[in-house]
Amino acid sequence: MREALLDWFDANARAFPWRTAGPRDAYVVMVAEALLQQTQAARAVPAFLRFVARFPTPASLAAAPSEDVLAQWQGLGYYQRALRLHACAAVLLRVHGAAVPDDLAALQALPGIGRYGARAIAAQAFGRDVVAVDANVRRVGARLLALEAPGDLAIERGLEALLCSDATPALRGVSVTEALIELGATVCTPRAPACSLCPLRPACAGRSAPESYPGRRATRARLREVMHPLVARRGGRVALQRRPRSGRWAGLWGFPVAAAGEVPQGRTLAGFEHVLTHRTLQVRPRIVPPRRLSGEITWIPVSQVAAGGGDHPVAAVDRRVAERLLEVRPSGRGNDEVVA
Ligand code: SF4
Repeated sequence: MREALLDWFDANARAFPWRTAGPRDAYVVMVAEALLQQTQAARAVPAFLRFVARFPTPASLAAAPSEDVLAQWQGLGYYQRALRLHACAAVLLRVHGAAVPDDLAALQALPGIGRYGARAIAAQAFGRDVVAVDANVRRVGARLLALEAPGDLAIERGLEALLCSDATPALRGVSVTEALIELGATVCTPRAPACSLCPLRPACAGRSAPESYPGRRATRARLREVMHPLVARRGGRVALQRRPRSGRWAGLWGFPVAAAGEVPQGRTLAGFEHVLTHRTLQVRPRIVPPRRLSGEITWIPVSQVAAGGGDHPVAAVDRRVAERLLEVRPSGRGNDEVVA
C-alpha cells in the first residue's frame, strides 16, 4: 500500500511552491505549515510567496518588528499563527543555531508547533516516516480503518502500522504524510470520495460506505456575542488602538471596543454579523467623540483601515467597520464626529 500511495502522489500531486523536489528548506516547510493550518492551499500561495520573499530565513523573520510580520499575514486571519511563527524564529536563533531541528521532541517544544506540526515538518522537511493527523488525514484514516469515532492517536498508529516502514523514506523524496494529506484533499473528499481513483482502495475497510466514517461529531452550538466598536473620526482619519499581545486579534490594531455588557451612548452605524470559528459577532458600531476614548490612540486614514491597515494591520471585523464608514456621508457639522 505504501508504494501505491507514494506512486499515486508522484503522478497526481498538485504543484505548490512549497512542494519542491529534492532536499527541502525546513524553515520554508514550517512557514507553509503555519499558513496551511487554517487556509486552503490554493489561497495560501500568494501569501506564502510574499512571506518567504520578505522573510527568507529564520534570522530575517526574528529580526523583523511584529507589525511587519502581521502586515505580511494580512487577509489570512488567525493572526496568532503569524505571532507564533515569529516567536518560533526567535527560538530557532537562540537555541538551535538558526536551523529547524529534525528531532520530533525538539520540534514539538517550539512555540505553537504541537504534535501535528512537529510530525508534519519532520515528515515533509526531513523525510521522517511518521504520520501527522490533520482534518484530511483524519478522514482518510477513519475510512481506511473503518473507525467510527477514532481519536487522532488511534488514526496515527493505525496508519503508521499500515503505511510506514521505518525504511529510508527520504530516498523517495516524498512522505506518507504529505501523500495522505493530498489524497484527502483531492480524492477521499468529505462528500462523494472518488474511490475508483484511490490507490488505497484494495486495503480500505470503509470503501463500501465511506461517508459514514468518521461518524458525525456532536456539533457545538455557535455562540453569539454583541460587540460595540467605538468609532471616533477626525477629518478622514479614525482612532485605532493596538490590541494586547494575547487574546482575540492579538497584536493587531483596531477600533476601541466597549466593555462586555456596556451599551455605549452614541449614534449607531449600520451593524452587521461577523462569523468567527466558534461564534458569531453581532457588530454594532457606535459613533463617539474622541474625548470618549481612553488609552493611547493613533489616527489612521479610514481608507487605509478599509484596505487592511497597511503598516497598522487590522482584523477583518475592523476593516468591515471602516468600509461602512466610507459608505456614510459626513454631515459637515464639524470634523470631530461623524453622523451616521
Ligand atoms: S477507497 Fe475511498 S474511502 Fe477508502 S481511502 Fe480511498 S477514497 Fe477514501
